[in-house]
Amino acid sequence: MANPTSELTAALERAGDGGRLTPEEAVELYRDAPLHALGRAADAVRRRRYADRQHLATYIIERNINYTNVCVTACKFCAFYAPPKDTERGWSRDLDDILRRCAETVELGGTQIMFQGGHHPDYGVEYYEGMFGAIKEQFPQLVIHSLGASEIEHMAKVSQVSVEEAIARIRDAGLDSLAGAGAELLPARARNAIAPLKESGERWLEIMGIAHGMGVESTATMLMGTGETNAERIEHLRMIRDVQDRTGGFRAFIPYTYQPENNKLKGRTQATPMEYLRMIAVARLFLDNVEHIQGSWLTTGKDMGQLSLHYGADDLGSVMLEENVVSSAGAKHRSNLPELLELIRGSDRVPAQRNTTYEILRVHDDPAQDAVEERVVSHLSSTADTGEGAHRRRLKVLPVS
Ligand code: SF4
Repeated sequence: MANPTSELTAALERAGDGGRLTPEEAVELYRDAPLHALGRAADAVRRRRYADRQHLATYIIERNINYTNVCVTACKFCAFYAPPKDTERGWSRDLDDILRRCAETVELGGTQIMFQGGHHPDYGVEYYEGMFGAIKEQFPQLVIHSLGASEIEHMAKVSQVSVEEAIARIRDAGLDSLAGAGAELLPARARNAIAPLKESGERWLEIMGIAHGMGVESTATMLMGTGETNAERIEHLRMIRDVQDRTGGFRAFIPYTYQPENNKLKGRTQATPMEYLRMIAVARLFLDNVEHIQGSWLTTGKDMGQLSLHYGADDLGSVMLEENVVSSAGAKHRSNLPELLELIRGSDRVPAQRNTTYEILRVHDDPAQDAVEERVVSHLSSTADTGEGAHRRRLKVLPVS
């Protein structure tokens, strides 16, 4: 990498001091800034933002419940879905199964449920109302941080109601906040290349903005490595930052990397670990209006997760008790609570469990006091790590039209 220009050095210093970057400056920093200088500036911003808790790195215990893999949207990067006609591979969980998984989550100290599933042709607003209502009735302590703008758009179409009505009804039934699912890449060319049947990036943001205005906050994600350009990555950040200036409803930004197995893109491209670290750092600098930046060990690996905490991330995601979507596409990383605590300590931070709104629930400042709960392990029932057919046998496979 060539020596940085004086303009680039000045932009990095300004961003490190809390100044706002232009998209053009962000592209230059992302592409050309020396890696360590970039990380140092991002870490300086993190430390200033969390002056009273800069020694901490947070995590959450959650369960990701994949309620159906039946999907009409056929994204090219997705290894999880089955088209409605494929009744061999298509499945849906029944409500009893979902409630049992919620009960396990509570028993293991989890605080959050994240529903993620396909765009099932029959699942309208009523389906989610029924599910969320039943969960809140039995487990009022569980936070339902689930779905994204794509699911909202889909359920509103199925039920032939406005997205405002869909959001209001599932909020009233128990939805606490929206996850950032479905953002993928927001700029049009990159999005059309991998998810041509999804709503546009502008529409995704519009629906998130509507939800924010109705008191339903969210996170925002980014899928890196499907062949997008550096400029498109930064454009994704710009689109989020502009909406955030208006609504303030994005609690966190979570980039993660495309997994190459079992999907139509066939792993032609992938983001490198360095590209990922640079994105974490530039996101911390560019998204001056988003509070939390989450490092991901699930798709990038534990070492990268540790490093991300030195490149601007303040949170290391979750002990995810269940995950089937990125696992289906090849994400092999697993963790359990003791290991996640050690990962964070190995990164010179004190681990702290948080809830969905990032309040600290407990600080693990004494390793001798760590609870030994070996069942708090990621992928408790993933398709990727159970024996052949075991996962399927636990499912009620419903016929789909
Ligand atoms: S990413 Fe989601 S919407 Fe796209 S095909 Fe997979 S399950 Fe369907």
